Amino acid sequence: MSVPRYWREIPRRSRLETVKCSECGTISYPPRARCGKCGSSKFENYKLPEKGELMTFTVVRTPPKGFEKMPPYIIGVVKLEDGTLITSQITDVAPEEVNVNMKVEAVFRKVVEDGDSGIIQYAIKFRPVIK
Ligand SMILES: [Zn+2]
Repeated sequence: MSVPRYWREIPRRSRLETVKCSECGTISYPPRARCGKCGSSKFENYKLPEKGELMTFTVVRTPPKGFEKMPPYIIGVVKLEDGTLITSQITDVAPEEVNVNMKVEAVFRKVVEDGDSGIIQYAIKFRPVIK
C-alpha cells in the first residue's frame, strides 16, 4: 500500500466538510451518525466557513501521551462565521501573542509523524489571519 502518496494528496482537499441535519438544521462537526439535537439520521452535506474568531484558548505545556516531542501548543475554541464552535489547535503564533477575539483561518497541517510506521496524520488547525 502506497501510504506516502495517499497522504500527499489529502492536504489539497478541504477538511471542513461536514453534515447538517435535514430535520432541525443542527450542524455536526465532526460528522456523526445521528443528530445530537433531534436524533435524526437524515443529513445533507455542509461546508463550514474557513474563517472565524478565537473565543478562548489554553496553552498546553504538558502534552498527552504520544505527543511528548511537541513543544507547548495552543488549543482554542474558534467561533466560525456561521456560529459553529470548533475546538482546534491554534498554530503559527507564539503562546504570548495569542489574543481572544483574534481573527483566525483554517489550515490543514501535519499533526504527528510516526517514525516507525511512517504514518503521518493531518488535522485542521487555525492560524491568525495575516493582515
Ligand atoms: Zn436534528
